[in-house]
Amino acid sequence: MRLGIISALHEEQAGLVEAMRGPSRLIHGMRDYVAGQLWEIDAVCVLSRIGKVAAAMTATTLVEKFGVTHILFTGVAGAGDKTVQVGDIVVAESLVQHDMDASPLFPRFEVPLTGQTHFQPDAPLSMRLVGAAQDFLELDFLDAVGEGERRAFGLARPRVHRGLVASGDQFVNDRLRLEAMNGALPGLVAVEMEGAAVAQVCHELGVPCAVIRAISDNANENAAPDFMRFVKSIAAQYAFHITRRLCRDLKEAPLQPRSDSAGT
Ligand code: SAH
Repeated sequence: MRLGIISALHEEQAGLVEAMRGPSRLIHGMRDYVAGQLWEIDAVCVLSRIGKVAAAMTATTLVEKFGVTHILFTGVAGAGDKTVQVGDIVVAESLVQHDMDASPLFPRFEVPLTGQTHFQPDAPLSMRLVGAAQDFLELDFLDAVGEGERRAFGLARPRVHRGLVASGDQFVNDRLRLEAMNGALPGLVAVEMEGAAVAQVCHELGVPCAVIRAISDNANENAAPDFMRFVKSIAAQYAFHITRRLCRDLKEAPLQPRSDSAGT
């Protein structure tokens, strides 16, 4: 296995490149790809920058140029539902591009000519990720996130959620817009700007992927300051410890090869 690890922003991946054994750096398409060993897993880390096109370009390059066999997106997101709180973790069960609308030619949200509105990440990899996230919250969280930060962000007992993640080229910071989105997309748990693009690319190339997001804000009028604070002081801790746990688990018990041959 060769794991591609994408985040949009530096703070969402800080520490991973430093933890890499034998790193080698290559610049391609205006991005820095760093290949090496992460907890004995062959990995390539990269920052996509923000938005669906940036993420699609990066995912494609990871597969076509760097030969990754699996992709993990790790980052932050706005809460998509009232049951999801800042500091919680979301592992995508399904992803949709909430700003895709070619109606009336195609149903709203359908990616034209694919027949699909939703794209599914890989179930076994996502299950491993849920386990890593739960272990992080149970075993690492109190040490990784200081008491001051826990209090400042009101992080009492963060939880792991599974559900629908909606991506679009918009930073959502408007309660009414979020409510409308929530009404149109049942099961919504998080809003962000890259995951569904990665899921579409991985679906088309037949590469298993998984998307994990720490909730940085409530996608309402306070979203921008909340997002900035969370990303600065907490996001990297989540990404680092969860990725470490995931890599160790994958080393101990490798994923079974997929039996289908999609995308070949
Ligand atoms: N002003 C910021 C822009 C960040 S965009 C800057 O200059 O860095 C927000 C990033 O975090 C995106 O990569 C997106 O995937 C995620 N995100 C977090 N909260 C979000 C929200 N409420 N709406 C959309 N994306 C969000």
